[in-house]
Amino acid sequence: MSGSAPVDTDVAVIGGGMVGASLALGLAGTGVRVLLVESTPFDSAAQPSFDERTTALGNASRRIFAGLGVWDTIAPSAAAIRAIHVSDAGRFGFSRLDAREQGVDALGYVVANRAIGAALWGALARAPGITLRVPARAEDLEISAPGVGFTLADGAGSRERVAARLVVAADGANSQVRLAAGIDAAVEDYEQVAVVANVAADRPHQGVAYERFTPAGPLAVLPLHDGTYAVIWACRLGPAQEVLALGEAEYLARLQAQFGWRAGRFVHAGRRGSYPLKLTRAADTVATRTVLIGNAAQALHPVAGQGFNLGLRDAAMLAEVIANASGDVGAPQLLRQFSDWRARDRQGVMRFTDGLVKLFADRRPGVPLLRNLGLLMFDLAPPAKSALARVSAGFGGPAPRLARGVPVRHV
Ligand SMILES: Cc1cc2nc3c(=O)[nH]c(=O)nc-3n(C[C@H](O)[C@H](O)[C@H](O)COP(=O)(O)OP(=O)(O)OC[C@H]3O[C@@H](n4cnc5c(N)ncnc54)[C@H](O)[C@@H]3O)c2cc1C
Repeated sequence: MSGSAPVDTDVAVIGGGMVGASLALGLAGTGVRVLLVESTPFDSAAQPSFDERTTALGNASRRIFAGLGVWDTIAPSAAAIRAIHVSDAGRFGFSRLDAREQGVDALGYVVANRAIGAALWGALARAPGITLRVPARAEDLEISAPGVGFTLADGAGSRERVAARLVVAADGANSQVRLAAGIDAAVEDYEQVAVVANVAADRPHQGVAYERFTPAGPLAVLPLHDGTYAVIWACRLGPAQEVLALGEAEYLARLQAQFGWRAGRFVHAGRRGSYPLKLTRAADTVATRTVLIGNAAQALHPVAGQGFNLGLRDAAMLAEVIANASGDVGAPQLLRQFSDWRARDRQGVMRFTDGLVKLFADRRPGVPLLRNLGLLMFDLAPPAKSALARVSAGFGGPAPRLARGVPVRHV
């Protein structure tokens, strides 16, 4: 390490995945000095956030991306969700949620993570007030009341010291910053693996997204802008190993048998990927000069497509709190205010997602019947459907300014 003075910044964001990159962009041009540290370039095959997956974005997330100035770049690669069809394999109940019935253009959008990465990092390269350090890792964090210090290691032997007023952990579910800040995390292993693949059918998707609860686990079939589907099948460990080992034709046959024919015949499947599924919940989202956002704060089961949407609202709210701070951006009362504002949304989405995983995994006698009656009644009850359609706006607490379509800074 050189003996030179440390790099000085107001906010150090560790992790430039989907959530950290969004936060940094939200702070661009606000006068706050931001250092964004990311270990893997957004366009590298090894990037864990911007990988082969696709993400279902709610309408609040679309508004936040528009406020960050990246929605126009993302939109050409986004498929609008015009309807959502929910069903339970082998049973009678199903429910359909329609965008027109809800008075909206789309219930959400499905976008490849790589397209989100290219849009965010493309904008970051031109953003004022943002210093990018990539590839670089944050190591040897020292967090105390006067400030935060850490070493930036670029992997090629260069090490420089950084001093910051605030460190933001956007470094994912196994957050090292969370550990350094002394914040505990509870981990619940669902003993499920998400098996993901892109699949083509023999007829157009017309913007319909499907969520089907199968004996092996929940199966999401989401429309993509090129006319194919993204399939995310959360299977228990044994069935997941089997599904991963199948040849293409056998996989398509297994999928068809579990999903049925409402999307037509599945004719082609791309490479399959797998993600072990756990619920990771940080005991708190703030500590001395530290804030956790995105997966570092809470990593969820993908069944309801809520993890990133929630993390993006974390980022939008934190950008707003920091941009409007008068004085120290790491002041304890400021961080507590952020944490209080995010609490209801965070708890609500975590409970909703975890509840859904457990309700549909429950095969005790009588439970599937109740669940199916629930789905039928839900289909007959417009207020319940409208409530679900609003889930994408968050579960309460103040909505971030960006999600309401206004800039982060008060004028
Ligand atoms: C199969 C699957 C499907 C999903 N589908 C959806 C969906 O449809 N909708 C939805 O809302 N959510 C979905 N999610 C959830 C979503 O993927 C996550 O919520 C999202 O990736 C969280 O982003 P993040 O930036 O917080 O964390 P991550 O994506 O984990 O990114 C963390 C970043 O930090 C970097 N990093 C880590 N440590 C360091 C360090 N020490 N120094 C520098 N950099 C570091 C990593 O390289 C990475 O870029 C899905 C998840 C899965 C598994």
